[in-house]
Amino acid sequence: MTISFKEMGLAQPLLQATEALGYTLATPVQEQVIPAALIGGDWMVSSQTGSGKTAAFLLPLLNKLIAANPNNKPVPGRAEPQVLILCPTRELAQQVTADAINLVKFAKGIRIATIMGGMPYGKQISQIKGANLVVATPGRLLDLSNSRSIRLDKVQCMIIDEADRMLDLGFQDDIEAIHQLCADRDQTLMFSATFAPRIMQLATSLMNNPGRIELASAGHKHENISQTLHWADSIAHKHKLLSHWLSDPTMEQAVVFASTQADSETIADSLRADGYDATALHGAMPQAVRNRRLQSLRKGQTRILVATDVAARGIDVPTITHVINFGLPMKAEDYVHRIGRTGRAGRSGVAITLAEHRDRSKIRAIEQYTQQQLQAEVIPGLEPSEKSRKPTSRPGSGGRPGRSFGGKGASNSSNRQGQGQGQGEGKTFKQNHFAKPTGPKFGGSGKPSSGPKFGGSGKPSSSPKRTFA
Ligand code: ADP
Ligand code: MG
Repeated sequence: MTISFKEMGLAQPLLQATEALGYTLATPVQEQVIPAALIGGDWMVSSQTGSGKTAAFLLPLLNKLIAANPNNKPVPGRAEPQVLILCPTRELAQQVTADAINLVKFAKGIRIATIMGGMPYGKQISQIKGANLVVATPGRLLDLSNSRSIRLDKVQCMIIDEADRMLDLGFQDDIEAIHQLCADRDQTLMFSATFAPRIMQLATSLMNNPGRIELASAGHKHENISQTLHWADSIAHKHKLLSHWLSDPTMEQAVVFASTQADSETIADSLRADGYDATALHGAMPQAVRNRRLQSLRKGQTRILVATDVAARGIDVPTITHVINFGLPMKAEDYVHRIGRTGRAGRSGVAITLAEHRDRSKIRAIEQYTQQQLQAEVIPGLEPSEKSRKPTSRPGSGGRPGRSFGGKGASNSSNRQGQGQGQGEGKTFKQNHFAKPTGPKFGGSGKPSSGPKFGGSGKPSSSPKRTFA
């Protein structure tokens, strides 16, 4: 049984906004988090990518802000927000801000501001005056707090999005500091891909006896994303496989993931040389360039983005039909975040992984993490040599546990993994143009299954199939 947003008791302007966005039903995570957060208390939440977590925390918080200001009184021009949302990357901060702006379209008197590095100080400082809700990356927020451009002691609720990523990026101390600055708040919500021990530790230091909401986790399968593996003999072979998939007639937009910043540039260059509309994105680029490139992907002006893992989380561009792992991720769990860039909002998607023989242990680690075997396929004319196509062992079939490379065990450890390249604090982009889902895109070809993601009872994997409304 899915309850509607209305039955959750959300204020009229929010109901109007969800309707305008085409959200007919709450997603399973929203169905659980919204009523819980409205009642109060601290919560930690885990659910898979693309399942609608942003609205799950924005709606109850905005509802509280609306309730606290029933007469739409103009807010005083002080920089003293009541709600604080922390994001690990600038991209995510901008995404969450855009979602929040969409949701307050019909609510008067609520102001939203973003604080993040890479943007001019002056404009940010004037924007935060009078803002009720601030979305921030930790570094710049502390900066502004230290210079007394913002006060956090009026914060009533703090949200940490992508908490596991926060720890990966080394934000633990910053978060503790921010926690102290808003110690009088009465609610903390934390969202994380996993509840690994290091996350639980953070939760204990920030929250009061938090409740747990755990839906199909990042490790569970994405039923609406078809996942395929191709063994390749060499980089040149990988390029041919890449071309094959980029020419797929169902391809609207693709994100090609590279292992390093330099690779992302090289791959984008070579795709452009072959006549593809491709552009690179990584953490060493100036913020303005990153903004422009993501914006252009959003607007459909760029078809192919070649990115490092800086783009693996939070980016929500519903028209991305294909994710191609040209280079494998550093950590198995990043695989799940990467492929979660497609198949969003109930659509189906295609995830292709290109691996060479030497990547076998990484593939095994991914399979162990996701508890799913990656289906190896060959493309006529592009078959790998015998040596390259040796299968990996099935997950759980006694193959050696994924060494060295993430996997469940490693994500539990507190030692930080090498950050890879381009993973630095993320940056970039603007609006969330929510496109109405157009239902399953791919018919017949044995490619993606169009399993629904939303609706159902909070146990998406076992609930009866339902078409995304
Ligand atoms: P997550 O943070 O869980 O990865 P997002 O919050 O970014 O996912 O949401 C993924 C997509 O689903 C977005 O495009 C969002 O607009 C859309 N979405 C969220 N809630 C709903 C809903 N109730 N109905 C339809 N689409 C939704
Ligand atoms: Mg999210």
